[in-house]
Amino acid sequence: MTGTDERPLVRIRGLRKAFGTHLVLDGIDLDVREGEVTVLLGPSGSGKSTLLRCVNHLEKPDAGFVEIGGELVGYRHDGDRLHELRTRAITRQRAHVGMVFQQFNLFPHLSVLDNITEAPAAVRGVPRRQAAERARELLARVGLAGREDSYPRQLSGGQQQRVAIARALAMEPRLLLFDEPTSALDPELVGEVLAVMQDLALSGMTMIVVTHEIGFARKVADTVVFLDGGKIIESGAPADVLAAPRHERARSFLSAVL
Ligand code: ADP
Ligand code: MG
Repeated sequence: MTGTDERPLVRIRGLRKAFGTHLVLDGIDLDVREGEVTVLLGPSGSGKSTLLRCVNHLEKPDAGFVEIGGELVGYRHDGDRLHELRTRAITRQRAHVGMVFQQFNLFPHLSVLDNITEAPAAVRGVPRRQAAERARELLARVGLAGREDSYPRQLSGGQQQRVAIARALAMEPRLLLFDEPTSALDPELVGEVLAVMQDLALSGMTMIVVTHEIGFARKVADTVVFLDGGKIIESGAPADVLAAPRHERARSFLSAVL
């Protein structure tokens, strides 16, 4: 292995974020290596979504930093000073990071095909025909071949979430973030979305996944990270963290969701 291979794709150091007087992220240090899946667990309000949003620069940290592929998210070095990036540079950085939300967030007035081709065409200037061809491949990959002319409201929640995953993939991200992607789904639709995510993980996609699906974490995660009160209280291989959590807060959380 060369030195560059050992450098994590995502490097988070000393990340802090407060809303008013409420400290929501309290010094997060986290590495995610290329091709690995990190599952973030933790009770509601522990800062999981805020952490993902800092990685995607939807929130600006108060201190610390996030680096993706050696590039600071939202900032650049200028000697020993940090300078905030301009909006256009942030947009370009975000194109490398896909995000899948609990509520799918598809454009309701656009067909499935247009939902998937919109960003590649508008942000990256991919010719429409080429974007459409790629969208059809991605739909096949998430098990929705032939549904390009449907509208989001004509699809089940599980199908909508799979379109949202195809839409994220259309930007050819280096990193995919998932924020409770199955929490809004009826139980019988959860499996089809987790299966697509597992398939992506097997294909080598680097992913950070917030989920309460412990079975998924056990099977797919390389690392499980447990967040509580804005701090990482446990982190390690799923076999260790899930089977024998050392921290009482992690134990009680796990016994509640299992
Ligand atoms: P989780 O995803 O683990 O449930 P969040 O990151 O969404 O946690 O939120 C952590 C805490 O930060 C919560 O107490 C939440 O109310 C608060 N919070 C999140 N976003 C904002 C915001 N934009 N303004 C004020 N408080 C917020
Ligand atoms: Mg959340």
